[in-house]
Amino acid sequence: MIQLRTKIVLAFSITILASTVLMVTIINYSTRRGYENFTKRNDLLFAERLLEPLTDFYATYNNWENIENYLVLPRPRMGEMMEGKGRNLYPPIILTDSKGNILVNTQRIDFGNIGRINRNILDHGLPIYNSNSVVGYLLTGSMIANSLSDEEIMYLNRVRAIIIYVSLFALVIAVIFSYIFSSKLTKPIRRLLKATNDIKSGDYTARVEVDGIDELSNLGHSFNIMAQSIENSDKWRKQIIADSAHELRTPVSLIQGNLEMILEGVYNPDREHLENIYSETKTLSRLIKELQELSSAESGSMVLQKEKLNIQELLNTTIKIFTPGTSVRFLTSIDENIPLITGDYQKLKQVVSNIISNGIKYTEDNGEIHISAYLKNSDAIIKISDNGCGISSDDTEKIFERFYRTDSSRNRKTGGSGLGLAISREIIKLHNGRIYAESEENKGTTITIVLPIA
Ligand code: ADP
Repeated sequence: MIQLRTKIVLAFSITILASTVLMVTIINYSTRRGYENFTKRNDLLFAERLLEPLTDFYATYNNWENIENYLVLPRPRMGEMMEGKGRNLYPPIILTDSKGNILVNTQRIDFGNIGRINRNILDHGLPIYNSNSVVGYLLTGSMIANSLSDEEIMYLNRVRAIIIYVSLFALVIAVIFSYIFSSKLTKPIRRLLKATNDIKSGDYTARVEVDGIDELSNLGHSFNIMAQSIENSDKWRKQIIADSAHELRTPVSLIQGNLEMILEGVYNPDREHLENIYSETKTLSRLIKELQELSSAESGSMVLQKEKLNIQELLNTTIKIFTPGTSVRFLTSIDENIPLITGDYQKLKQVVSNIISNGIKYTEDNGEIHISAYLKNSDAIIKISDNGCGISSDDTEKIFERFYRTDSSRNRKTGGSGLGLAISREIIKLHNGRIYAESEENKGTTITIVLPIA
């Protein structure tokens, strides 16, 4: 596996290298072309300056004799002097007669021993006229040899070498910077990778350090949220398994103990003992049902059958289930004008039933349960109060936790699992509502449900 950092460094280097090669080629080509044009132009100017004295010479003597002694070179111009550094001050000059026989050859350029220039080179030169006929040709620099001189080629090579050195330097800088840059860029990815591996191997507390505000920081932030929810659900899973095992142990050991006694002949398999065992199996199956319900509500897999429902109707129907066979008195003050709310009728009925049945369970005979409902702002408020044993202020929050039972209810052996209110809270949460308890010990408890109308 090639590391991301190496890939980035490679990508940078290849880009720089490719652009360097391209740049060197283009610059080299255009410098050479530019330089050739420049030299040609200079050579022509130079030749033109020589043309007049040469023409005069021929007009005066009518031949080229002693021309080599006469040919006085003009003073070099500033640009030419600078050009001339390290090479001859002037370009080579060749003067021929009209047939191409060399009369002057300042730099003794070798044309073989024929001492004559052939026609196609001659055509590049400037013709010298006398009485309308060509009496000679003047050739300078690039007119003689089209290619550049050694000095000029050296100069161009120097330019190319400078470009290559600069490009190599840029390449080294690019590699260094891309290494630093890619290390910085891949650092959050490496952190994420490490944290992901930690989570994979079961360490759900792994988090990544988040700095900056770019996409990778966002990714790190989302990762932390995800890791937190994995940690929470892992905790929740472990806790629910531990709690469930603890709660299931009591009825299971009671069943087991009773059956062992019967098998060992200590107890008779009579109705009384069988009824005890049966009652424990009912506790067990209720516990299992409630656990399933809580787990589906807490894990978010509970599906609500939502419909428009009338709170007044829901409360009255639920109260009717409890009235026969209870010595507790029901008082109601339910506002008729509460608008319909959207919710799961059966689930909300289950919540109200659980609260009313708690009210009955934790209230002495002839107690009272007061049920009221009204509209406040855009919420429907349902209050179910009893005048029973009440709950200590420390416990009013805790009773909504799963398996939580107050000491007094444990002592009363009311037989509850401690799951009813936990399930109720989850159902109300799924309706975007709230549920809370207010209580005073030995005076009574009020459970309030707030459900949004919209
Ligand atoms: P349970 O099945 O034990 O009643 P709940 O979740 O419904 O489970 O209630 C949790 C605990 O809250 C109860 O065990 C009890 O201690 C306390 N509780 C609930 N409602 C009342 C009430 N109206 N009066 C006093 N205590 C209550």
